[in-house]
Amino acid sequence: MADRWTGAAADLVRELDETRLVDHHVHGALRDAPSRTAYGDSLNEVDTDPLPPQTNPFDSQIGVAIRAWCAPVLGLERHASADDYWTVRAALSEDEVNRRFLTAAGVSHWLVDTGFRTDDLLSPAALAEAGGGHAVEIVRLESLAEQVVADGVTPSTYAARFRELLERRSLGAVAAKSVLAYRAGFDVDLGRPGDREVEHHVDAWLHRGDPARLADPRLIAFGLHEAADLGLPIQLHVGLGDRDMHLRRSDPLLLTDLLRDPSIARVPVLLLHCYPFEREAGYLAQGFRNVFLDVGLAVNHLGARSAALVARSLELAPFDKVLYSSDACGPSELHFLGARLWRNAMATVLGRFVDDDEWSLDDARRVIGMTARDNAFRAYDRLAEQPG
Ligand SMILES: [Zn+2]
Repeated sequence: MADRWTGAAADLVRELDETRLVDHHVHGALRDAPSRTAYGDSLNEVDTDPLPPQTNPFDSQIGVAIRAWCAPVLGLERHASADDYWTVRAALSEDEVNRRFLTAAGVSHWLVDTGFRTDDLLSPAALAEAGGGHAVEIVRLESLAEQVVADGVTPSTYAARFRELLERRSLGAVAAKSVLAYRAGFDVDLGRPGDREVEHHVDAWLHRGDPARLADPRLIAFGLHEAADLGLPIQLHVGLGDRDMHLRRSDPLLLTDLLRDPSIARVPVLLLHCYPFEREAGYLAQGFRNVFLDVGLAVNHLGARSAALVARSLELAPFDKVLYSSDACGPSELHFLGARLWRNAMATVLGRFVDDDEWSLDDARRVIGMTARDNAFRAYDRLAEQPG
């Protein structure tokens, strides 16, 4: 380990360690200790079924990275065996596991997506209490629509009721998020629907759809335009996700018409995760002044290969458009590992630029400050109202 950081990377990793990050897309950590099986399943992002018993979930980039980087946080040697790791982890309370990993992440602001698995995950406030820093909420547009329906609505009152709820819920939030990629894909008409069209589609949803799950792209488009009308930044899940989605239909280039829409152009649009479309996202970030991107989630899953991904995120995209996120969800190792691997990758990639005399050390330091914190404060104007 002693020789890992040489040249400019040694300076930069120190700088990165001292910089508290804004994790601009994250979910809660586990409330209760998981079983070993459930823990193993959480290391596989794409397969939605329990892993077969003969599969060792630690035999993956993320599993090896946990043994390398998370083991020392639990007092173990780097590269501890999976069995030793599990024995020590299981002897600690989940509160203690969370305290250690969340504080070690070095995060000042957690922007928490509360639209998913709220029952077994810490609330934003509890996440911030365990890890330090401040937590703010991102509202999920599809969840709001489903709540409007669950509360009882008619096709003709839906639009007004959705607007009311969005306005109310967005008061305590810094942005809205959509999982359009999961529900319909991006190769759909995302123009603004009129109230009559909304009424017609709500009628179809109520009578022929699953009222608990909004999948109609016209109604999701309605939500996106309503969020933009309120001036809310819009986060969009892009790329990597579980196999419920069709990955090909989440290519962000399919969002080009939406991004050309003048009402969407008024608010920041944040492309989340992006892998394996990080280059397409970089193209959009250069082409549209309101488009930002991150490569969260995939950083954790690529482990020792994550520096290559972070390098690709710094190709076409202007540096004031790239943000940090972990997209951690569940085991708090993921909240820590996302931060650790991203810091390592930034030190490795930018350190190389400096050592090759392509960049000055000052250039590298400035880009670290932008991507770690400053860009998030520009994209989310309400974040500045938070202390810290
Ligand atoms: Zn997420």
